[in-house]
Amino acid sequence: MPDLPGTEGLDAPVRNDAAIELVPELNLILVGPPGAGKGTQAEKLTEDFGLPYYATGNILRDAVAEGTPLGKKAKEYMDNGDLVPDDVIIGVILEALESDEAANGFLLDGFPRTVPQADALEGALENVGRKISGVLLVDVPDDEVVKRLSGRRVSKSGRVYHVDFDPPKQEGRCDIDGSDLIQRDDDKPETIRKRLAVYHDQTEPLVQYYEDRDLLRRFDGTRSPTDVHDHIRATVATLRLEDEL
Ligand code: ADP
Ligand code: ADP
Repeated sequence: MPDLPGTEGLDAPVRNDAAIELVPELNLILVGPPGAGKGTQAEKLTEDFGLPYYATGNILRDAVAEGTPLGKKAKEYMDNGDLVPDDVIIGVILEALESDEAANGFLLDGFPRTVPQADALEGALENVGRKISGVLLVDVPDDEVVKRLSGRRVSKSGRVYHVDFDPPKQEGRCDIDGSDLIQRDDDKPETIRKRLAVYHDQTEPLVQYYEDRDLLRRFDGTRSPTDVHDHIRATVATLRLEDEL
């Protein structure tokens, strides 16, 4: 603190961090195989905790639909069930996290998906004195992934349904906005197998990565959506309490 005239000899004002940060920020990450129910849970969690939500899959699909430079770079990888290159996606997310709306917390879904992405996120948060509050792993076995993704249907706005497990009130129509439900191109059987292989190879190492940092919390994604939600909500509430102490 610069010496201002008249303040010589006075102690520097004491910063009362507890008073400034009455509600600690919640910086949360959802990880898990494709089809584990991350998007389904995110819909509920963003409501529970009022967090801005960044799902890289949705961001990339919108970019492809709009034909932006990002979409042009990403399309071929996505169609093949491959990950888009790290340098393409890292910038997009770091920019989003710098925005005002993410200043008091965020929920990331589908990012990070590789160790270099996780390192980039950790570094960027550290640079501004922030940290991840918790990493929520929603896990399901491969055969369940195949069942879920083959029956997944989505609305234009990204609302998720399942033909058997969570059907819309009227077949093929979104309950919220009445738009036609579609099957994602990458939810076809060959691409599903490829995406699972990519998950095990490139994303699963993050489980150990975040376990080493004591940030990982595991949830049994084979339970009903309501059960999974109850467990996650209770855990996140505890994370917030631990942070306040
Ligand atoms: P992710 O975002 O992890 O890819 P989604 O939330 O899109 O997963 O869910 C994949 C499919 O499985 C969707 O069709 C969804 O309706 C369905 N689903 C999600 N959670 C469950 C659950 N707990 N039990 C059964 N089906 C589920
Ligand atoms: P799912 O809901 O099945 O988990 P997403 O919607 O998250 O899948 O992702 C769809 C596709 O978008 C991925 O297969 C990949 O091509 C691309 N993608 C999404 N997030 C990332 C990321 N963090 N890094 C690289 N590619 C990504």
